[in-house]
Amino acid sequence: MTWTYICILYLSAFFILGGYLYCKHNSKKIAIVRPVKRLLLSSAAAICAAATATFISGRTAALTAYGVYYIFIDIMMISLIVFVRQYTGIGSHIKTEYKLMIAGTVIDAVIMIYNIFTEKVFSISQTTDSKGFLFWEISKRSGMHLYHLIFMYISAAIAVCILTYKTISTPKLYKVKYASILFTMGITMLLHIFYLQLHTQYDYSLLGFTATSLVVPFFSLVYIPRGLSERLLFFSVANMKDGIICVDMYGNCVHYNEAAKRFCSNSDDPYAVDKQAKRWLSENFESDNLWSATRHIEGQDRYYDIEFKRFFDEQNQCIGSFFILHDKTDDYNRFAAEQYHKSHDALTGIYKKDFFYKSVEALINASPGKQFYIVSTDVKNFKMINDIFGMEAGDSLLKLIASITASIADNNGCAYGRLSGDRFAMCLPAEYFNESYILRQYSKVTSFLSSGPFKVHVHIGVYPVTDRSIPVSVMCDRANLAIMTIKDSYQNVVAYYDNSLREKVMSRQKVISQFERALKTGEFKAFVQPQVTADGHIRGGEVLVRWVRPDKTTISPGEFIATFEQTGLISRLDSYMWEIACRQLRKWHDSGMKDAYLSVNISKKDFYLIDVYAVITSLVKKYKIPPHTLHLEITETAVMNDPHSQIPLIERLRSSGFMVEIDDFGSGYSSLNTLKDITADVLKLDMGFLTDTEHTDRSKNIMESIIELAKKLDMEIITEGVEYIEQVEFLSALGCDMYQGYFFAKPMPIADFEKNFLYSTVEMPVRENIA
Ligand code: C2E
Ligand code: MG
Ligand code: MG
Repeated sequence: MTWTYICILYLSAFFILGGYLYCKHNSKKIAIVRPVKRLLLSSAAAICAAATATFISGRTAALTAYGVYYIFIDIMMISLIVFVRQYTGIGSHIKTEYKLMIAGTVIDAVIMIYNIFTEKVFSISQTTDSKGFLFWEISKRSGMHLYHLIFMYISAAIAVCILTYKTISTPKLYKVKYASILFTMGITMLLHIFYLQLHTQYDYSLLGFTATSLVVPFFSLVYIPRGLSERLLFFSVANMKDGIICVDMYGNCVHYNEAAKRFCSNSDDPYAVDKQAKRWLSENFESDNLWSATRHIEGQDRYYDIEFKRFFDEQNQCIGSFFILHDKTDDYNRFAAEQYHKSHDALTGIYKKDFFYKSVEALINASPGKQFYIVSTDVKNFKMINDIFGMEAGDSLLKLIASITASIADNNGCAYGRLSGDRFAMCLPAEYFNESYILRQYSKVTSFLSSGPFKVHVHIGVYPVTDRSIPVSVMCDRANLAIMTIKDSYQNVVAYYDNSLREKVMSRQKVISQFERALKTGEFKAFVQPQVTADGHIRGGEVLVRWVRPDKTTISPGEFIATFEQTGLISRLDSYMWEIACRQLRKWHDSGMKDAYLSVNISKKDFYLIDVYAVITSLVKKYKIPPHTLHLEITETAVMNDPHSQIPLIERLRSSGFMVEIDDFGSGYSSLNTLKDITADVLKLDMGFLTDTEHTDRSKNIMESIIELAKKLDMEIITEGVEYIEQVEFLSALGCDMYQGYFFAKPMPIADFEKNFLYSTVEMPVRENIA
């Protein structure tokens, strides 16, 4: 009988060790494994020690084995508490309890060692069982043994309390996890109490330990509550964004979720999903399949990818199938938003350049017989609006222009977009192209800046699409090129592109690219046009540049001065011309023609590009010529554009001895009004006056007043552009001091001027004849 008991104990320990090995090698790697392993090891060790103590020979050995048994029981209780706390999640952070239990175990261990030598804690005696087998049993327990029992029962009570609380408070599905451990523990404790109270021959509570030790790893590591997977599956399917429809092998719908219901019906038809599944299946689904569908659900278009899959049993027989309705709406919307941002301008919401180009291309290609117009717009001085009124104002202006553009071109067969910054463009078929309507629409921006006198002007360039083979970007460039021609104008707001404009641009490019070479090789020649005094004497003339190309063709300044002004090259050309004039004056001075003079032109751009005063005075110094022999022509517009710096500069030049002439006087619109502010030596009247004054008395009167006023202001008058004798007669009657014009001579090389005109006298019309 005793041997059976011992064998059962060793077998239990063997099973527990099996449990331990399972935990070590196969179980999930989670934190709870560690206390479970400790619990298993300590209980296996305790049971082995108890079994060994029963039959081991020698009193001391048996006492030692019993002592070891008690100590392992203590360790087992510590592991049990740690396990229970972690398993239930109740008080797992309490560290003092653990430390106290370690201390308790150490004390118990000391007591047990003490007992080996004294038997004052418990004593053992040898008894014979019914089969005559001798075995050791604990015969007497003293008060000190009580310490061990109290330690053990307190630990067990803590574990029981925690498990009881958890069993009560946990959802039904999980109760068995805690109740089962509680149950085996309860049985073990009862068996132990029986063993202590009834002094039974064998301690059956050890079998309770075994049961607890096996129940613990099973429920904590292996067991999954029944129905949990189904429920989890059910809940996750129910809450999925994608729809699921499961169908049995006969095509009957066995399960579907809310998303599938939404997909199949907006009404309350309870059979909608089943009907839908049957409809799909009737389309002969032989194998797995994937297709797309769109549904209008709750006022919104939703996009689905529908997947059909069949499932099979172990014999590979189809036992059912399911449809997954992947809701792709968010992806689709995200993609649509990305596409929108790629194609639409963030600020104005209209097409970006590339998409505008594409849509224009499609439009033009779709209607080969139609006439189209590319219209582009540009805000005059937009940068200034941004600088002065702020980015916000600039942005609102752009939005306004975009909305105007849209209002003009928002028709079938039109396209519009934002090219860049303040540039917008549209493509209109002839039936929608109406210049005055477009102008009227864009004129709405004029008073955009309500405060102050600043007016917004939109310049419009039009390219009538004559060449369909060129890229749309080039068509837009052409419309923009047309704008370039009116860039500085306040009056003209529309310009059309034509081929002559293109040629102009090409020749402009040519002029710029050849400037350096021309300057270096002396292709810029100084021509002089004589200036004749009222009594017919010629002492000097105006220096006018001519570009004599290597092929001997001569180009007039009208073809390149404006380009050089735009590119800033003008100051280099002017400095060059001024130097030629100074060198010539030096030569004349040296050959005795001391009062011969030359008049040079100063571009309005020179004042911004170089220090005109410094350059001119240094030239005069360099060639040692009297400053009054160098006449300086400053245009009226240059003065009036910036009177605050120009008027003092004129003063400075005059006080340095230069003769300052106001060129092209009369070409600007503020002339008369501002004449009083300009203190120059000479007023050069623009020939434009003469063309007007030939017939009109009114213009003659104005001319007369200017001359009279200039005389009063102590200024000489030179009239340029004199072509007819009548003009000379008329001007001399008004008291004009000097003349310059084709009537006397055209501009000519300096050598010709020197040879044929300088210091010569021209016969002037007789005054009496005029009246
Ligand atoms: P501008 O300074 O007013 O020069 C007078 C222009 O009138 C010259 O044209 C001259 O040839 C032209 N002209 C003179 N008499 C008559 C006439 O009886 N009838 C007509 N129809 N025209 C006459 P050009 O030489 O072609 O020069 C044009 C403009 O180019 C000049 O006007 C001047 O503003 C500018 N320019 C010429 N050379 C230079 C230069 O070296 N530097 C700068 N900055 N500008 C220059
Ligand atoms: Mg001039
Ligand atoms: Mg002039």
